[in-house]
Amino acid sequence: MTALDIVRIPVLSDNYVWLVHEPGSGATMVVDPAVADPVLAAAKERGWTITDIWNTHWHPDHTGGNAAIKEATGCTITGPAAEYERIPTLDVQVKGGDTVRLGSHSAEVWDVPAHTAGHIAYHFADDRAIFVGDTMFAMGCGRLFEGTAEQMFDNMQRLGTLDDATRVYCAHEYTLSNARFAVTVEPDNAELAARLAAVEAARGAGEATVPTSIGEERATNPFLRAASAQELGRIRALKDAA
Ligand SMILES: [Zn+2]
Repeated sequence: MTALDIVRIPVLSDNYVWLVHEPGSGATMVVDPAVADPVLAAAKERGWTITDIWNTHWHPDHTGGNAAIKEATGCTITGPAAEYERIPTLDVQVKGGDTVRLGSHSAEVWDVPAHTAGHIAYHFADDRAIFVGDTMFAMGCGRLFEGTAEQMFDNMQRLGTLDDATRVYCAHEYTLSNARFAVTVEPDNAELAARLAAVEAARGAGEATVPTSIGEERATNPFLRAASAQELGRIRALKDAA
């Protein structure tokens, strides 16, 4: 089995769209296209034809490019069954436990409600990669727009069952803001302090800081490290007010 080729496309002010190519079959998938043109250009540059779009949730900065990419390529759009009314371009509705395929690779759909009520993630277990949309960020988690701290706590706990090497492809560059907040939650966490310094240097040099990994998050993400839903809720409220 050949490795997936995963390309990060920065769009809008801080979104990342992920372009995922499976060399064996040529299948090429886009996770959460906020917009179409830079995504089509990135695929064209590499000689790839987009065959699929996978959405994690309905927010316009994750689905805004669906229609134009489909018009340009005839691709198939897969997304959360629970949000089909809010994603009118969906062709295939999926829910937790379903399997979606990209060439010879397959991903398990996880239900991760909280940021939105029907939010899903796509876990390529064999590739040790998970596309989490706005559920987990480097040193952070998504805002609780349509769900509860209990749900987000369950999501973090489940992500915490993955092995350290699993790469986490999140949809925003929020890392510096998250790191600056995280050190106020865990002022004695040396790994977190070191990561903040590394992130400040990377962002100062204009570099991206995602994907992250479960191992890094286990050591530095206060939302993954929270001992209870109450604690996660308390930290989330502080971050929202920050
Ligand atoms: Zn969102």
